[in-house]
Amino acid sequence: MIIDGKGIAKTIEGELKEQVAELKNKGVEPGLTVVLVGEDPASHTYVRSKEKACKRIGIKSRKILYDADISEAALLAKIEELNGDDSVHGILVQLPLPEHINSEAVIHAIDASKDVDGFHPVNLGKMFLNEPSFWSCTPHGVIELLDRSGIEIEGKHAVVVGASNIVGKPMATMLLNREATITVCHIKTKDLAFHTRQADILVVAVGKSNLITADMVKDGVVVIDVGTNRLANGKLVGDVDYENVAKKAAAITPVPGGVGPMTIIMLMKNTIESAAKHARSK
Ligand code: NAP
Repeated sequence: MIIDGKGIAKTIEGELKEQVAELKNKGVEPGLTVVLVGEDPASHTYVRSKEKACKRIGIKSRKILYDADISEAALLAKIEELNGDDSVHGILVQLPLPEHINSEAVIHAIDASKDVDGFHPVNLGKMFLNEPSFWSCTPHGVIELLDRSGIEIEGKHAVVVGASNIVGKPMATMLLNREATITVCHIKTKDLAFHTRQADILVVAVGKSNLITADMVKDGVVVIDVGTNRLANGKLVGDVDYENVAKKAAAITPVPGGVGPMTIIMLMKNTIESAAKHARSK
């Protein structure tokens, strides 16, 4: 089975449109503010996709652009202002930030109740404790993909390759919260193939094309390929040798059209939830 991330994201989009209509009937218009620093083309592309999704769903989106030489203090002051603005339900600072800015300080400055990216330590901590919070969008999207494809998580051996703070670590925690048995592999892991061959569910989030080849998986594995790599010929591929691994897999996500669309839709979901929460607290 090919796990159709694009199709699943479209289904969720329909559900979110209904939720936005309900909120608008109550006089609440969900609002997402994206802060973008510098000229990184990939960041601008990601932000454009987020803006388009907001438009389709009915979320009011606002983009604040800064030159790469903005000071950290000025950026923090803007975040403080957005924290206090009632019309802003979600604040997203597009990463990476220029080197002279401490990204952690910026993420920590965002009010956790508006941190729709789910990167704030309060949200990560609540997720760790399995309490309601904004979950990081990419791993949350993976959980939705599995659930909506009818793939059981409980009791399965899930192997996560990659241990970043925004994908691998929260992914492993979310799978653990769903009662999978977890192995996390990273750059220092010895004999990666030994571990990946144990996987019932294999999530790969590294950023290296062809890292996972067919000899590294068992028959019937479910493969979620989070990686995105641009080849010299311009083609976008994941971390998994899709063609050959697909022959052994019970289910697999393509790149593009797998995890990518889910990441954006989870951001929309978090923004709408934030708007609903803010409306309830008034
Ligand atoms: P990252 O911060 O670079 O993290 C990559 C992780 O993989 C690190 O833990 C790294 O370890 C580990 N790693 C590197 N080489 C490895 C190897 N040979 N074997 C095992 N682990 C290895 O990247 P990220 O932000 O997590 O993103 C990972 C990939 O997912 C990227 O391709 C990114 O573009 C993609 N992504 C896609 C989406 C989407 O929506 N589709 C969203 C987010 C990310 P060290 O840190 O120790 O080197």
